[in-house]
Amino acid sequence: MSELRIPKLWREIPQHYRLEASKCLSCGRIYFPPKTICNNCKSKNIEKTILPRKGVIETFTIIRQAPSKYELYVPYAIAIVKLDNGVKILSQITDCEPDKLQIGMPVEAVIRRLYDDGENGVIHYGFKFRPVV
Ligand SMILES: [Zn+2]
Repeated sequence: MSELRIPKLWREIPQHYRLEASKCLSCGRIYFPPKTICNNCKSKNIEKTILPRKGVIETFTIIRQAPSKYELYVPYAIAIVKLDNGVKILSQITDCEPDKLQIGMPVEAVIRRLYDDGENGVIHYGFKFRPVV
């Protein structure tokens, strides 16, 4: 088992589990995943911010041929979700037949298994969005 991978995984947990983003205090732009320097104004005046867990599907596409570690989910939907604060993020949609999805459908973030790291047996978890019923 690699000794570098586990600490990296733990370091990434806050952003995976709480939708942790960064906000530029100079121009107000929000980044997810978080950044330490603003792409827009190059400021390093950045603070952490937690994104809302709810939003609506702005647009989506259905994946029928996936990279090998995501093959077990095929077919699945990838959507641009517009969160309640207006920030847009890309996410897999879960707990729903892809054919039932509609633009404008309300969704919420949940923690789900993302993929197994076959080499060292680490199971990666992270957020996905599911329709709010
Ligand atoms: Zn900025």
